[in-house]
Amino acid sequence: MSEAFDVVVIGGGPGGYIAAIRAAQLGLKTACIDKRGRFGGTCLNIGCIPSKALLHATELYDQMGHLARLGIKVEGVAVDLPAMLAHKDKTVDELTRGIGFLLKKHKIEAIVGAARFTGPNAIEVTLNDGGTRTLTAKNTIIATGSDSIALPGMTIDEKRVVTSTGALSFAEVPKHLVVIGGGVIGLELGSVWSRLGAKVTVVEFLDRITPTMDGEVSKNFQRILTKQGLAFKLGAKVTKVEDKGADKPLVLTLEPSKGGEAETLEADAVLVAVGRRPYVDGLNVEAAGVALDARGRVAIDGHFRTNVAGIWAIGDVVQGAMLAHKAEHEGVAVAETIAGQAGHVNHDAIPSVVYTAPEVAAIGKTEEELKAAGIAYRIGKFPFTANARAKANLETDGFVKILADAATDRVLGAHIIGAHAGDLIAEVALAMEFGASSEDIARTSHPHPSISEAIKEAALDVDKRTLNL
Ligand code: FAD
Ligand code: NAD
Repeated sequence: MSEAFDVVVIGGGPGGYIAAIRAAQLGLKTACIDKRGRFGGTCLNIGCIPSKALLHATELYDQMGHLARLGIKVEGVAVDLPAMLAHKDKTVDELTRGIGFLLKKHKIEAIVGAARFTGPNAIEVTLNDGGTRTLTAKNTIIATGSDSIALPGMTIDEKRVVTSTGALSFAEVPKHLVVIGGGVIGLELGSVWSRLGAKVTVVEFLDRITPTMDGEVSKNFQRILTKQGLAFKLGAKVTKVEDKGADKPLVLTLEPSKGGEAETLEADAVLVAVGRRPYVDGLNVEAAGVALDARGRVAIDGHFRTNVAGIWAIGDVVQGAMLAHKAEHEGVAVAETIAGQAGHVNHDAIPSVVYTAPEVAAIGKTEEELKAAGIAYRIGKFPFTANARAKANLETDGFVKILADAATDRVLGAHIIGAHAGDLIAEVALAMEFGASSEDIARTSHPHPSISEAIKEAALDVDKRTLNL
């Protein structure tokens, strides 16, 4: 006997569980299925949350070494790695259990098992505890997320050759960690282990790190990370990692991306962080007739509809940035659309943050994108060296850059490198959602002394009338 639901959500990550909650709020009989055993998806279990627990702890540890500049003498600071990892695990445990409570509170049927289509809107779940359940749904939301991309020539064992998951749990600090991929994961987790004492070498295929970031920010970012001790090999790829035994170093073969002579490099651990792929393994989308696009993502229209009536898809498994808040936003919109409301996501106003020190945050268009699109723009910039609060805090690395339409002054993008950038960008996100101009930001009162005044000053600089520079 199959059980009937208005909405079945496959995947309990930030996209899926939020879609389920919004659907339940709108009065729809909803089930949410996840095979991981704990809800919260990649983000809570092996992504955003555990990585930020380690980033925060190691940043504090690193800061201890610089407190003398503020007149604080610190002695005897030491790392207790098992305790740090335990704090991370406890945070994950509490937050994932919290999702379980939320699902219960909203009377959502939380099913722990692997879902597969047996037909359009017909789903069979192989329960983790044994047995199966069959469900039918008026609407199915595919929110199955993504998985790390592997590279040929190396075997991931999650001990010495790891994805981000293994790099969240090294039992000891590797002496030399080679990170393949100078993107978000590589730089965040590379920073964690560098702060804990590892020598970190980042090997990046292209000729710059964080290639989708605004070029000027990316260049400054690399300069700051280099000062912190990270080493970079740009325009290079790792073609082979040889494990010659647990007591011997790993031997990596590196080649220039554009061809040339290979070199070898020894390492104690290798983090493969070359991107993530949409995940539909075992879902049997063929049985439902759901089409994938050329990059293996579930193909959708502008309203998250797949090619099959009543089947929708959101989050990392579809086009767009692979970010938790993007998935959440889509979860809300798709549930509202299913319930007959006008669900909508403004994909031009989704911020992204790299949680290194300093943080790097971006929203909207980069200068490179505006140039390529032939859009005339004006730039406003303000360095943190000229912000009083940043100066008092000794947090003067970086700047705010605002890009505004030359004709209308509408804010088209913002790029921030500096302490608290991840929090500062929220103001620009709100401004962009409201279609604000740079002058709107410039005429908004900002608290003094605060780091946020750098946003106001950058907005003033669009019209070349900064007040404090
Ligand atoms: P997921 O979170 O991947 O959830 C999908 C769920 O579906 C999984 O739990 C999986 O078990 C389940 N599933 C898959 N197939 C089936 C099936 N057939 N049956 C049942 N269940 C199934 N993003 C940010 O915005 N900020 C960050 O700071 C950040 N940090 C990150 C750090 C790391 C190390 C990583 C790896 C990612 C990070 N991300 C971050 C990205 C973020 O985790 C993802 O964008 C987000 O989790 C995507 O949400 P989702 O709901 O689409 O998919
Ligand atoms: P990424 O796309 O950010 O970076 C991958 C990097 O690897 C790129 O710079 C790419 O040029 C490089 N690369 C690709 N193939 C290579 C090769 N063979 N050799 C060397 N370099 C190679 O991917 P990621 O860092 O793996 O992160 C995956 C996703 O997870 C991202 O899309 C991101 O959105 C998400 N994430 C977000 C956060 C955050 O929001 N703070 C944190 C972690 C992860």
